[in-house]
Amino acid sequence: MMCRSRKRPRTIARTDRSSHSARSHTKMTSSGRLRQAEIPMLMSEQADVPLGEVDPEIVRIRRIGKRLFDVANCIVTLGSTAPDSSSAGALSASIETAFCYSVPLSGEPVVVTDTRNDQMLARHRLVVGAPYVRFYAAHPIYNQDRVLIGAVNLIDYAPRIFRDSDRQMLADLAALVEREMQVRSMSALQLDLQRKNKSLRRKSLIDPLIGTWNRGAIMRILTIEAIRCDKAGAPLSLIVADLDYFKKINDTYGHPAGDAVLVKVASRLRSCIRPQEALGRYGGEEFLVVLPGSSINTAMAVAERMRRAIASQPEAIGDTTLNLTISAGIASTDLFPSATTEELISRADVALYAAKDAGRNCVMRAQPDLS
Ligand code: GH3
Ligand code: MG
Ligand code: MG
Repeated sequence: MMCRSRKRPRTIARTDRSSHSARSHTKMTSSGRLRQAEIPMLMSEQADVPLGEVDPEIVRIRRIGKRLFDVANCIVTLGSTAPDSSSAGALSASIETAFCYSVPLSGEPVVVTDTRNDQMLARHRLVVGAPYVRFYAAHPIYNQDRVLIGAVNLIDYAPRIFRDSDRQMLADLAALVEREMQVRSMSALQLDLQRKNKSLRRKSLIDPLIGTWNRGAIMRILTIEAIRCDKAGAPLSLIVADLDYFKKINDTYGHPAGDAVLVKVASRLRSCIRPQEALGRYGGEEFLVVLPGSSINTAMAVAERMRRAIASQPEAIGDTTLNLTISAGIASTDLFPSATTEELISRADVALYAAKDAGRNCVMRAQPDLS
């Protein structure tokens, strides 16, 4: 006996689907399935869902469906890729999954109480032959944009009666899947936003030319480290380093060559500090190095190392080889225990200009009488 509890035949359901305004973007093949290439796009629009993945929530819903309807299997089909076809889990049933995917996706609930009496399914190879599917029901799943994205399917090997209350329960189950997809979509969006925020935040702290901390970032680092060192009773030292005669390089070789010099110098300076220390671009060709926990003597040694790192070898810029030098001024809470960070920078700056006055390519420490 053939008993369809749905009101409309599949053909009507398909016509209805295509006339649904919100679903009109969804392109169907002649079989009514979403085209493979369109699924990821569709899904990424709404959820960025990895279709081939086994989702524990979906597996749970399937388990509930199987038990609730006492059927051989409950399968959630999403797009045209079985999310659980690769699963070796207890509920994995590839032949049943294949059956569900072979039935055109319908925008309306479908109930076939005996497949042998169904116009379309009676000749299906999995009905005529093993495993002899006899009962099939499906309820569509839509995403939040009312795009048809899949179905919850029930399969059994004996004809069944499917009452209105069963239909309602199947609709409830589909609603659970829809809800789950929405949650996943939201968390995917949130993750994406977090990732973008992080990347934007990082960009806002980094100098785009030389890749060191920019002025704002190095100043924040200095403030944070000053508080930390103060609490720990540890010294804090800083270095202000400036390229010597840099304007001449720009004037002689051009601004792009000057840019390249800045990149190379930054790289050499970076190689002189430890991970807990920070290098930032304080101005055009001026660098600020923050050395938390370092005494004035250690800071002098680091600055001297930097000076040598720059002066020891010429730098190749395009076809030219340039001899570069830096001058540096150092200040420390060792010397100025109650100085603010601004005062420390200003002390280091004065020392830097003393180094310039002394002929450049040298390192000077701040002196209380130099301020
Ligand atoms: P001193 O030894 O006294 O430090 O002399 P200087 O020529 O290095 O100093 P000055 O301040 O006269 O010149 C610094 C130059 O740095 C001027 C400016 O055009 C250049 N400059 C600043 N920022 C950049 C940049 O991002 N790229 C390039 N190529 N040049 C820059
Ligand atoms: Mg300079
Ligand atoms: Mg300068």
